[in-house]
Amino acid sequence: MPLYEENQLFLYNSLNRKKEKFEPLNAPHVGMYVCGPTVYSDVHLGNCRTFISFDLVYRYLTHLGYKVRYVRNITDAGHLVDDADEGEDKIGKKARLESLEPMEIVQRYTLGFHSVMARFNAIPPSIEPTATGHIVEQIDTVKKILAAGLAYEVNGSVYFDVPKFNESHDYGKLSGRKIEELISGTRELDGQSEKRSPLDFAIWKKADPSHIMRWNSPWGEGFPGWHLECSVMSTKYLGEQFDIHGGGMDLKFPHHECEIAQNTASNGNPAVRYWLHGNMLTLNGARMSKSTGNTLLPQELFSGNTDKLEKGFAPSVVRFFMMQAHYRSQLDFSNEALLAAEKGYLRLMEALRKLSQLQAGGSSESDFDLTEWKKNCYTAMNDDFNSPILIAHLFDAVRFINGANPAACGLSQPDLEDFTQTINAFVTDVLGLEDASADDGGTKLDEVMQMLIDVRAQARADKDWALSDKIRDQLAAIGVQLKDGAEGTTYSLQ
Ligand code: AMP
Ligand code: ZN
Repeated sequence: MPLYEENQLFLYNSLNRKKEKFEPLNAPHVGMYVCGPTVYSDVHLGNCRTFISFDLVYRYLTHLGYKVRYVRNITDAGHLVDDADEGEDKIGKKARLESLEPMEIVQRYTLGFHSVMARFNAIPPSIEPTATGHIVEQIDTVKKILAAGLAYEVNGSVYFDVPKFNESHDYGKLSGRKIEELISGTRELDGQSEKRSPLDFAIWKKADPSHIMRWNSPWGEGFPGWHLECSVMSTKYLGEQFDIHGGGMDLKFPHHECEIAQNTASNGNPAVRYWLHGNMLTLNGARMSKSTGNTLLPQELFSGNTDKLEKGFAPSVVRFFMMQAHYRSQLDFSNEALLAAEKGYLRLMEALRKLSQLQAGGSSESDFDLTEWKKNCYTAMNDDFNSPILIAHLFDAVRFINGANPAACGLSQPDLEDFTQTINAFVTDVLGLEDASADDGGTKLDEVMQMLIDVRAQARADKDWALSDKIRDQLAAIGVQLKDGAEGTTYSLQ
């Protein structure tokens, strides 16, 4: 019997603001879509938290025996700098500043994102579609929304008509906003705007002459609005109705609200059955965000090369730190919190090593009840993926292991096997934690590279060009590329 039949999972559906029984449309299949990164810069640790939270969701659903199709997109066009419908494309802007092709920017940061996710032991999605790979489908959806009378064309751009949509649907339901309040909270249209209402949003935008990424369409050369890609790619790969849609809670409005409107307008239903939103990672109490510069990069964290940390931390420790908070709780990042997480993580790993040495038999001195313990672990995860409570129960097991007589731990042979298999499944398969000693190579490499980068920076400061060139060239010869940028020097392996 698959585990999902004996475990009733409840998840918090942001749409209805309550925990609901999870009943997939088409069990054992589950469709899950998560908004991926806009690949115009390195992902910071805040972005990573959201992706790691959904990695936990994916892993637990899979552990329960569901066959999950997990789609996470790459935004490589259409995301404008000011999040409204004006301003330069984020990727186009970076390409212009660095005199590169937009697709070079996309390639660089997509590869960087993948390698960071691999360091965090996040399982890659089943499908990772890109916005630029789905222009045809996006144009088709714009046509459908126009045909439904819920969009209008002005001068080569097409806008979604929010007030008209709201006449028969509830725009703002997900984010808990009322259309009247939204209108009073926005600036008056200045007479220059093409929009009929300030709430309307572009689903297709005319490209001005300086816009690099542009495609032909029935409305002239342009590009898709940012919200459109997620509606189009989620329903293309998961069906016009699917189970789970995730993302950071900052995406609820306008991004996800607009997705619901687009899906409803083009397919007649809102598509998503359960909306899951992860909370933010903060640094010094403020949200980690690229735009404010309040960020920490994964590389800085692994190498310890930042004044925010006294040393580097292994990716598994950081993952454990994140799992100690529930995905819907805010989590503040600090050196002290990471040091504490490291202690807990090492204790857990040490206990797992001890467990592999334990022998069955004897009578237990402890009050450890295997059946009860297993039930507690599943109950925690069935309650909206409550990983901190799961971890508390894992430490009940750690106490039992540490107190047990290694020659006769008090469990029968079948119970000892069951216990070993269950705790390993939760630690490795569900929480995705690896023994950091297995990861030492990567962390050490970061540290050694940081040392070389520092030596080279000093050589350059001393105008010792021979030494700085030698470091760069010899690294290149063994396939390590150094890249000097505004934020310092980074390295990549070829
Ligand atoms: P972006 O590349 O800006 O579209 O963001 C990618 C993902 O990272 C989105 O799901 C955001 O919600 C999420 N995100 C951005 N900042 C943070 C943060 N400080 N904590 C957690 N998630 C974040
Ligand atoms: Zn999205």
